[in-house]
Amino acid sequence: MAALEGTEPVARPFLFGTNLKMNQTADETARFVAELARAVAPPTPGAHLFVLPPYTSLPAATVAAREHRSALWIGAQNMHWAAEGAYTGEVSARMLTALGVDLVLLGHAERRGLFQETDEAINQKILAAQAAGLRVLLCVGETAAEKERGAGEETVARQLTTALDELDLAALPRMQVAYEPVWSIGAGGTPARPEDIAPVAARLRATLGGLFGDPGRGVSILYGGSVDQTNAGAFTALPDIDGLFVGRAAWSVDGFRATLAAALAGRPPS
Ligand code: PEP
Repeated sequence: MAALEGTEPVARPFLFGTNLKMNQTADETARFVAELARAVAPPTPGAHLFVLPPYTSLPAATVAAREHRSALWIGAQNMHWAAEGAYTGEVSARMLTALGVDLVLLGHAERRGLFQETDEAINQKILAAQAAGLRVLLCVGETAAEKERGAGEETVARQLTTALDELDLAALPRMQVAYEPVWSIGAGGTPARPEDIAPVAARLRATLGGLFGDPGRGVSILYGGSVDQTNAGAFTALPDIDGLFVGRAAWSVDGFRATLAAALAGRPPS
């Protein structure tokens, strides 16, 4: 929870989760989800933990979460904006909700960079996901070149504004944003310093407020990029960071648990 200038404090949900990317078979994810269900639980009411496996693991993951009575959200890593049709290799929101999927990740840097996803396409996907009742985790983040020329804040504000174009206010409770500077994510990434992240997160918060007023300022912002148990608490201590989106460090149950514990330890007392 963070006090906002000139407004009452807004309680924003804490979120923590991992993107498995193109890792794990269905059986491996079923085991991972079952073990996580035993090892971790949402730390407070209103907090949410999530796992985003590959499409092929989604049925097994949703079944494992249900069987172990886990509150873990299971999410997809992408989707198409159309409900159905001639889109070879794609998957729709309707197909995800039919599996019992809770959440969809949209706009990850690897989708933008490797698969040429544009902000306009991400906007269409967000509108389709929201119409289907799916929660959305939208990724935004500047490249190293954009950061070097001082365009980091401007880039993420533009990505956010385009991605959320025409989004209904009623959809905001199902919306969360992950700030993932492209230069900080993955094996080749440079870990960010909290002082790099704070002003960009504040700009995202202000942009959300400008677009949607107080309900926009209430959207949770996560940080992601080379997070592990040694630095997680420094990011969750920031006033505009409400949770973490973790890759490599949370791909084991022990890593997930240790990074979550560090994230919680860093949070300012509410
Ligand atoms: C990511 O790729 O979105 C990510 C956060 O990865 P990592 O934590 O491994 O840098």
